[in-house]
Amino acid sequence: MPDLRHTDIQYLHGVGPKRAELLRKELGLSTYYDLLYYFPFRYIDRSVINHVNELRGDEAAVQLRGRFLTFNSVGEGRKRRLQALFSDGTGTIEVVWFNRVASIQKTYNTNTQYVLFGKPSMFNNHLNIVHPEIDLAQAEHVAQGLQGVYNLTEVLRNRSFTSRAIHKLVLTLLDTPAVRHIDETLPPELVHRYHLMPLAEALRNIHVPSDHQSLQRAQLRLKFEELFFLELNILHYIKGSSRRLVGHVFSRVGAYFHDFYNNILQFPLTGAQKRVIREMRQDMGSGKQMNRLLQGDVGSGKTIVAFMTALIALDNGYQACIMAPTEILAGQHLETIRPLAEAIGVKVALLTGSTRKRERTAIHEALQNGELQILIGTHALIEDTVQFRNLGLAIIDEQHRFGVAQRARLWSKNRTAPPHVLVMTATPIPRTLAMTVYGDLDVSIIDELPPGRKPVTTVLRHEPDRFKMYQFVGAQLKQGRQAYIVYPLIEENEKLDLHALELGYEQVMEVFPHYNVAMVHGRMKPAEKDHQMMLFASGKAHILVATTVIEVGVNVPNASVMVIEDAERFGLSQLHQLRGRVGRGADQSYCILMARNDLGRDTRHRLQVMTQTNDGFVVAEEDMKLRGPGDMEGTQQSGIAFNLHIANLAQDGQIIQMARNAAEDYLRDDPKMETPWGRKMAAHIREIFDKQANWGLIS
Ligand code: ADP
Ligand code: MG
Repeated sequence: MPDLRHTDIQYLHGVGPKRAELLRKELGLSTYYDLLYYFPFRYIDRSVINHVNELRGDEAAVQLRGRFLTFNSVGEGRKRRLQALFSDGTGTIEVVWFNRVASIQKTYNTNTQYVLFGKPSMFNNHLNIVHPEIDLAQAEHVAQGLQGVYNLTEVLRNRSFTSRAIHKLVLTLLDTPAVRHIDETLPPELVHRYHLMPLAEALRNIHVPSDHQSLQRAQLRLKFEELFFLELNILHYIKGSSRRLVGHVFSRVGAYFHDFYNNILQFPLTGAQKRVIREMRQDMGSGKQMNRLLQGDVGSGKTIVAFMTALIALDNGYQACIMAPTEILAGQHLETIRPLAEAIGVKVALLTGSTRKRERTAIHEALQNGELQILIGTHALIEDTVQFRNLGLAIIDEQHRFGVAQRARLWSKNRTAPPHVLVMTATPIPRTLAMTVYGDLDVSIIDELPPGRKPVTTVLRHEPDRFKMYQFVGAQLKQGRQAYIVYPLIEENEKLDLHALELGYEQVMEVFPHYNVAMVHGRMKPAEKDHQMMLFASGKAHILVATTVIEVGVNVPNASVMVIEDAERFGLSQLHQLRGRVGRGADQSYCILMARNDLGRDTRHRLQVMTQTNDGFVVAEEDMKLRGPGDMEGTQQSGIAFNLHIANLAQDGQIIQMARNAAEDYLRDDPKMETPWGRKMAAHIREIFDKQANWGLIS
């Protein structure tokens, strides 16, 4: 029997070399297999016949039964079109064709009953349908039941390669022996345990559903299969014991950790903080390299966890580094950590792009002789000139700014074995999803905020409310609090945005003549930026007008108001990050989203999510639903390709969980995938994922 994956689509009856070329170029379909797995993106119920006198012109698609009354060719040359009048007994509707006029005129006549299928619209106050599908009304010619609609490109449509043409090819394909006798890809126990539809039946029903229920079962089966192989690949190949690298063994928790915990730490750790520290201790003592993602909402206390994890490395005679995405953040980490470290006799230094040559040389030396134990910095840390004596742990803060490749470069910083890696992110997503999206990472979650935090009150306001907004900010300032006013800054529009920011700055100075206003933006020299930030952080400036440079990490507990200008231009996770800058002290804090009046539906919804919840997990999930996981910050670089055929990582959370469990169960019984089914599935996984190259390479 021909192998579906290696049979060129041109050999399918009705295709041939020319159409094959089109399908390959336009839809990326080059084999039988590709076409078989090219699923409809929606379905239309063709069993319903509509009536012309009931149409409003806003229906997605309708089906009409009747006859043509007249055909009229109108216009000349390229403007030529064909207009027909179609009647179903309840009324008439105009039907229009803009091309193939002659051939249409030859094919259809006024004596025959037809069934038309298409999208009606209102044009110049009367109903019409452009380019409908047309069948003879005799039953055997009419499409029945649910009909799949396939995605097309403009080029295909112009060559009259319709969704129905694809559908016909699929029908032919479904009837070939190779497909009718297609091999089941899942072990029978699994099909049985999860009540899955067998593969052959599912493939038929996904293209030609016999009814709604069969369609749903087919979708479930195919999504499950896709996710099951994805999870199996992650568990076996990417994280499987065979691929796991040997790691430095941190066998004990020693003096540094205990000294800090017992004598320096000012507050009790939350239960979640304790749990994740325990998880990491276990990992780092296991003999395998740790690759862990630490998720925690803004303000959940990741920094202290990072620091204490670093102390475990130090207790075992290793060095640690902490890498942040911006100089400001790296600087803040230093300020937070240095006093804690010095109190227990640990040496810390900061290395960024603007570190002076002399200091840099001194740092290099101290790193190599082991005197310097914790190095904090920016990308400057991964430069080749930076050599550690014995780096045991690399911590990356705010992960979405770093790519997989950069993470990999950190690994080469220890010559005997790669350091343990802890990646921290404040863009939390559900655990199973995180384990899937960041396939190579284990996941720890801080799902608890330190006690006493008040949720930030968030409101959506528009231009007419500006004066009231300023009044409110003024009242907060009067109480001794500080405020952020943030402007968007995107690269294409940099000049304009900078202008808006500067205007805003002037306006704020006018409105608040008795307060000091600082300003930071990305185009400033680092020294000036730091100076302005310092003014605000120290309380000398009461208002900080800024672009998103303050988005991550910055900590000024006395700030109680965050005004976000042009809020509609920010993504959800960005808004949540910004909001996280306030609500850090004990007092009630506020986030005011200033937006245009005439917001689109999605945009308004996005901003409303912010006013309804403070929970980063909820925000992240909504974000994913609105944008799809492929667009989420961080996921592009996560190394996992998102060319799933049918499953949707944002929406199929339950199936992901099911598939994850099934893959774990399977590997428990067949850990090396060496049973006949194991070998078969291993081959299948290689087929699927080899194309996606290198996504497991760095593990
Ligand atoms: P993030 O997770 O956003 O990086 P941080 O580490 O900056 O959060 O912590 C936010 C603030 O909460 C800091 O001021 C930190 O000292 C404080 N904090 C952290 N853990 C606790 C705790 N268990 N109890 C009280 N305050 C804490
Ligand atoms: Mg932080």
